[in-house]
Amino acid sequence: GSSVETLEFQAETRQLLRLVIHSIYSNKDIFLRELISNASDALDKLRLEALTDSSQAEINTPDLHIWLEIDKGARTLTVRDNGIGMTRDDLVELIGTIAKSGTAGLLEKIKESKESKDAATIESLIGQFGVGFYSAFMVADKVTLRTRRAGTDSGTQWESDGEGTYDLQSVDSLPVGTSVTLHLKPADSEDGLADYLSEPKIRQIVKQYSDFIRWPIRMATERTDAEGETTRDIDTLNSMKALWARPRAEVTEDEYHEFYQQISHDWLAPAETIHMRAEGTFEYEALLFIPSQAPFDLFSRETKRGVQLYVKRVFIMDDCEALMPDYLRFVKGVVDAHDLSLNVSREILQHDRQIRGVRRRLVKKVLGAIKDMQSKDAERYAKVWAQFGRALKEGLVEDTDNTEALLELVSAASTHDPEKTTTLREYVERMKDGQDTIYYLTGETRAMVENSPHMEAFAAKGYEVLILTDPVDEVWVDRIPSFDGHRLQSIAKGQVDLDESADGETETDAEKARREQDFAALLPWLTTTLSEQVKQVRLSSRLTTSAACIVGDARDVSPTLEKMYRAMGQ
Ligand code: ADP
Ligand code: MG
Repeated sequence: GSSVETLEFQAETRQLLRLVIHSIYSNKDIFLRELISNASDALDKLRLEALTDSSQAEINTPDLHIWLEIDKGARTLTVRDNGIGMTRDDLVELIGTIAKSGTAGLLEKIKESKESKDAATIESLIGQFGVGFYSAFMVADKVTLRTRRAGTDSGTQWESDGEGTYDLQSVDSLPVGTSVTLHLKPADSEDGLADYLSEPKIRQIVKQYSDFIRWPIRMATERTDAEGETTRDIDTLNSMKALWARPRAEVTEDEYHEFYQQISHDWLAPAETIHMRAEGTFEYEALLFIPSQAPFDLFSRETKRGVQLYVKRVFIMDDCEALMPDYLRFVKGVVDAHDLSLNVSREILQHDRQIRGVRRRLVKKVLGAIKDMQSKDAERYAKVWAQFGRALKEGLVEDTDNTEALLELVSAASTHDPEKTTTLREYVERMKDGQDTIYYLTGETRAMVENSPHMEAFAAKGYEVLILTDPVDEVWVDRIPSFDGHRLQSIAKGQVDLDESADGETETDAEKARREQDFAALLPWLTTTLSEQVKQVRLSSRLTTSAACIVGDARDVSPTLEKMYRAMGQ
C-alpha cells in the first residue's frame, strides 16, 4: 500500500451523516437494500459499457453477481460486486459530497420533522432522497470500501468512521468492482440493530427488499448434517423475477407493492398500479405506479421522471424523459421494450417514432386510470388530485393532445361549497338556466378571492365562481378557451355581462341613461387623475356593496401571474 490521505466530508454531507448515524431511520435493515442497489447499479453500468463502448470491448462480463460475506470472528459483513468500480476521483466526488440539488432544502425539512419527532416523515424524506451509501453508518462504526474501476490498473481504499473525515489510499491487485465492509456495531434490539452476522437475518432482508434485483445475490452457507459433516453451499438469495414480465393474473397485490417500494423508496403503497403489455410490431411491457404522496421536490427544476427503461430485462436508463412528459414526472415504474438497441441514447429515443407511440399510449393509460378513479373511488381520486393536481394542470399548457382528458380531471375550489372542490363537469351540471359561461377568479388565497369586490355581483345573483389559487392556474386558464362548449371567463377581466333577466332586477334604459348622466363629469375627471394607475374609469353593475373595483383588460396579465413572472425573473 501507499501513504494514507485524510480528507474532509463536505459540510452538507457531514450534516446528513450525523442525521443518519443518530438513527433517524427506525428501520435499520434497509442499509443492505441500499448497498445491494448500488452494487446492482454498478453491474448494470459494467454490462452496458461492455455492450456499447467498443473501446471497452475487452471488458469481461461473465458471471456478474453480488456476493455477501459474513465474518463472525472479525464482526464484519461485506457486500461485494464485480461491477464497474470507482476511480479515486469518483470516490471523492460520489461518496465525499452530495452533489444533488435541493440538499439544503431537504435538510431543513428534516430538521423541522425532527423537532416534531415525526419519524415516519423523516424516513420518507430520506427515502426519497436516497442517502444510500451513508445508511451503512447506521449499523457500522467503521466502513472500509475497496474498489477498482474497470479499465484502470490500480485500486483505492476508502475508510471512515463517518465522523467528519475519510481516509484514501492506493491498493494494488484488487479485482475489478467494489467491496464494502461494515464493521458492525453490536446488536441492540432497543436501537433497532439486529444481529447482522446472522445468516437467516441477512436472507430475510434480501428477500424482503432485494428480491427483484436482476443480478444474483449470493452467499456461502455452511451446513452440518446429522453425521457432523460440514458442507459449504453457495446459495442465490433472490428470485430475480422481473415482475413486469409476468402475466397480471399471476402477480399479487403484495408483490406489486414490494416492487414499487424497491424502485421508488416510498414507504406508502401506491395509489394506482398500471400493468400492461403491448404486442405487435413494437413489443413492450410497462408497469407504472401513481404514488399516493408527492415527493418533496416535485416542483424543483431538477426533479427527475420516475420511469426506467429496460431492453429485454437489461437496465438502460433512469429518468427516461422520452417515455413520460414532464407533467407526469411523478409516475414511477418500468418500461421494458423488446426491440430497441441496448446502445440507444436519449437523443435517439426522443426522435424515435415507436417510442413516441409508446409515450402517447402510456400517457393515455395514466390519465385514464385517474379518470377511472374519479368515477369509481372519489376519495382516492381527491387524494391523488390534492397531491398531483398542480403537476397535472401543467399538462393543460404542455400537452395539447390531451386537453380534453385533462380538463375532465381538473378539480377546483368553488363558491358552491366551501368544503369541497368541484370538477368542471359538475360545475356545468349546476349552471343556472341561460348561463353558458364558466366563471372563475384567480388569486393568491381562497380568502382573497372570496373577498374580492369582483365577487359581489356574482354572489348576489347566485352565480357559481371557481376559485383558482394555484400559480399554474393563471397559465392554463389563459390557454384554454372553453370546456365542453362553455367559455371560461375570468370575472376580473373585460366586460362581464351577467344575465340580468335571471333575477328580474333589470335596469330600464331610462334609468341607465340617468345614472350615466349623474356621473358624466366625474368619470373623465377620475380617468385623468388616475391616468398613471388605470386605463379607464367606467360605471359598473358588477358591484353591490363596494364603491369601486379594479378590472383587468381581457388581454392583460393578471396580478398573480405578473408576480409569478417577476419571481421567475422575466
Ligand atoms: P445513489 O445510489 O442514489 O446515487 P448512493 O449514496 O447510494 O447514492 O451512492 C452514491 C454513488 O456512489 C453512486 O451513484 C455510485 O456512483 C457510487 N457507488 C456507490 N456504491 C457503488 C458500487 N458498489 N460500485 C460503483 N459505484 C458505487
Ligand atoms: Mg444508492
